[in-house]
Amino acid sequence: MKFGGSSLADAGKILAAAKIVKKRLRREPIVVVSANGDTTDRLEKLGKAAAERGLWEKQLEEIIRNHEIIAEKLGLEVGARHTSTLQNSRSGFRPYNCAKEISYLRRITKHIAKLGELSEANRARLLSFGERCSAKLFAVTLQSLGVQSSAYNSYDLGMLTDRNYREAKISPDAPKLLRRSMRKLSGVPVITGFLGKAKGGDITTLGRGGSDVTAAVIGAALGAREIEIWTDVSGVMTADPRVVPEAWPVRKLSFAEAAELAYFGARVLHPKTIAPAITKSIPVRVLNTFAPNDSGTLIVPKSRETGIVAKAIAYKKGVTAVVINSLRMLDAHGFLARVFEIFKKYKISVDMITTSEVSIALTVDDDRNLEQAVEELKKFARVFMMNRRAIVCVVGEGMKKMRGMAGRIFSCLGREDINIEMISHGASEINVSFLVREQDVASAVRTLHRNFFGQ
Ligand code: ASP
Ligand code: MG
Repeated sequence: MKFGGSSLADAGKILAAAKIVKKRLRREPIVVVSANGDTTDRLEKLGKAAAERGLWEKQLEEIIRNHEIIAEKLGLEVGARHTSTLQNSRSGFRPYNCAKEISYLRRITKHIAKLGELSEANRARLLSFGERCSAKLFAVTLQSLGVQSSAYNSYDLGMLTDRNYREAKISPDAPKLLRRSMRKLSGVPVITGFLGKAKGGDITTLGRGGSDVTAAVIGAALGAREIEIWTDVSGVMTADPRVVPEAWPVRKLSFAEAAELAYFGARVLHPKTIAPAITKSIPVRVLNTFAPNDSGTLIVPKSRETGIVAKAIAYKKGVTAVVINSLRMLDAHGFLARVFEIFKKYKISVDMITTSEVSIALTVDDDRNLEQAVEELKKFARVFMMNRRAIVCVVGEGMKKMRGMAGRIFSCLGREDINIEMISHGASEINVSFLVREQDVASAVRTLHRNFFGQ
């Protein structure tokens, strides 16, 4: 059971989450937690401020205070000099148990300010505060409900990674190590999401949103019956409810559908979560901490044909399209290779591609280094850029067999007078995606939703 930051943003929410866990004790849950609320964002800012020797002291105290407020509201004795939990539980005295984490946070922030620089290793150490404190607060909350529970750092249980501090890759040895150490645990373990350790002991992070990965890796390692991702919405929605208020949760998605949706911008699920669960055929359920009885979305290895053609519509804004045009492409071989060599060199990842005889159009969602890449492309091709674009994508296994699907999508956009600038379909039979101007995104998504999901 993984609980995200918004599910743990204050004492009341933590308590509600702990009650959900308590209801499932018979299923022998293992809990994975994110940092409380927006702690990770705050820690990122703190790290930058410290390195620039800005107003970091105030930010540091705010983060600490936020955790103290949670602890106070949970009924813990803040300021008590005890570090072990529940040592006086019989008398009802429960000390706030994050003292060690707080002094670590102070030390590391001061150190960063002294260096005047934020290394990747120190950034990971700094961010680790969020999950470490969160795990302890959650475990103590479970204890207060009479549930036997302890907090663990994932890396002490075997979450071994490579040395890529920011987006570390999990070592192939991790599952075995996790299995071995977790066999010995009793009660409900509450484990830090997002964190790992490289050989030698440095803390690493699994990339923003990485607690889902932690849950999937642990679930896969132990052969869990199910992985539950507890968040603040009732599952994967048919469309972004901010754009389509009448959108509803999709009951069941195949892994492939979920991966496409995640890739094209549906929030809720981290695409990388999918991988460890797929290999073990473990179903993943996305559930709402604030509406725990909603059925949520079940993500299964393969969904049976249900007759439902499209399952959901996703979009991704902030996309830039690059059109590369060269007469040298006529009858030439190696042209694509030459173009993509440049994207590789500048570490730019390409989302959507279409080609014609003399041109290539592609999209990127991160324009770091793009200027330089374009300069280089201009040495042998004409290059146009179109920014403020968006990819819209319709996903569903049923689309494989459905005739007239593309026609339906495009005539519905035509009626709204929305211009489609690129189309991609076929590489994955379960998605049709296309590029529009950012300003057209909302009406594109709405009209498609009405057409495919309207009553
Ligand atoms: N706390 C981390 C983040 O905000 C990891 C997570 O929430 O999954 O990115
Ligand atoms: Mg988070």
